[in-house]
Amino acid sequence: MPKREDHYYVTTPIYYVNAAAHIGHAYTSIAADIMARFQRLLGKQVNFLTGTDEHGQKIARAAEAKGVGPQTFVDEISEGFRDLHKVLNASNTDFIRTSEPRHIAGAQKFWEVANASGDIYKKSYEGLYCVGCEQYFVEKDLIDGLCPIHKKAPEMLSEENYFFRLSRYTEPLKKYFDEHPQFVFPQNRQKEMRQILEEGLDDISISRSTEKLSWGIPVPGDDSQVMYVWFDALTNYVTAIGYGTDEKFFGDWWPADAHVMAKEINRFHSLLWPAMLMSAKLEVPKQIVVHGWLTVDGEKMSKSLGNVVNPYDIVSRYGIDAFRFFMFREMSFGSDGDFSYTKLDQRYRADLSNDLGNLLMRTIAMTHKFCEGRVPLETKGEHQEFWDRYSAHMNAWEFQKALEVVWDYVRGLNQLIDREKPWTANKEGRTEDVARTLYTLLEGLRQIAIAIQPFMPETSEKMLRQLGFEFFEPNFSNLVEWGLLKSGAELAQPEALFPHIE
Ligand SMILES: [Zn+2]
Repeated sequence: MPKREDHYYVTTPIYYVNAAAHIGHAYTSIAADIMARFQRLLGKQVNFLTGTDEHGQKIARAAEAKGVGPQTFVDEISEGFRDLHKVLNASNTDFIRTSEPRHIAGAQKFWEVANASGDIYKKSYEGLYCVGCEQYFVEKDLIDGLCPIHKKAPEMLSEENYFFRLSRYTEPLKKYFDEHPQFVFPQNRQKEMRQILEEGLDDISISRSTEKLSWGIPVPGDDSQVMYVWFDALTNYVTAIGYGTDEKFFGDWWPADAHVMAKEINRFHSLLWPAMLMSAKLEVPKQIVVHGWLTVDGEKMSKSLGNVVNPYDIVSRYGIDAFRFFMFREMSFGSDGDFSYTKLDQRYRADLSNDLGNLLMRTIAMTHKFCEGRVPLETKGEHQEFWDRYSAHMNAWEFQKALEVVWDYVRGLNQLIDREKPWTANKEGRTEDVARTLYTLLEGLRQIAIAIQPFMPETSEKMLRQLGFEFFEPNFSNLVEWGLLKSGAELAQPEALFPHIE
């Protein structure tokens, strides 16, 4: 069964539960949520998956350090991630945990199918292993003998493991990359991965001896080994939609339209995962969407610097919508970005409170003053170009540019007020001019409310309510038409969208 045309499947990575959720996780999940909501506006049925990655050495050790069993440990941290998604107003339709039976069953089936393809073999291995990365390193990838990410010397480990014939997929992957130049977003990440393929891929170890690590999914047919955490984790994208447990559902949703993640795990998603899928005779996801790292006030976020930004703090001060807006208005999605409270504060006041909030407030107040609080006579408007530009950027993950298009519109409407001066026109008795200006403003604001819906769902709804527009199932096909505000409809009293923050 081919995937259904009207289905859109987007994922975040499953978050590794060795530590609590931070702003980086929030950034990834909001990006996926924006796309999920945009696709719903396009009329698609959306499956939006997030979840937690719960196996592996680091977790076993973190649980031990805390003096609790691994399951107890992951239960608690996974709950924290579930909670974060509620606070972020993420519209995820599923939340998978790799310790769930549906995942374990699917991951084991995946292993069996890859094994049947002749891609899994056993060999004894000795190598330099970084516990932080949960991966073996070859000498040339170390910097001064240290893991380039953790700056720690890897341990020499020796064990008999199962290996995946990743090398076999170097050529098929090259071909796939060349035939799909948009496979990895943004372009520089596609090029980076294509370059790695030029060097050729090595087979990788995909299991661990239970003597070293028992916290993992048992390898089918061999109780002495558990799956390597990446081999286990990547399969969540298929196990969550029924691979190995509900083939009909799986057929409706696979392949994924987009896997969203930060750049340090791009390689696993762009190279290893497609190779695993080819081995399992499954389709490759349509797009790998990679974003950069966040710094704080120009510095790398770290516990030792004490500059780790907690998303809960931002949300409690500025509200969830301002946070969601800021992260994608200020930073260019795909590149590295810098978070600062100063810039957030500026955007809050200038873009949200002033440009958008005041526009709505002024427009509704004038409608009450000059038109008895009722939508005036309908006037024609030109908005097709706005939607074309906005949608093109949204489809291309260019969220910053999409918001620029929306704010151009917002500024244009503010200028219209300054130019038309409805209060003067009213004084001079030019009632038709007043009505035309106000209708253009009100209907323009309705269009804006829909365009910002993926970014700021609560604000969108508040705006539509104040405009007297009954909010129904958000869908472009029945919302972007000009003139849906009916003349004579009564408006509510204006309320500040983004009140002043001390
Ligand atoms: Zn490392």
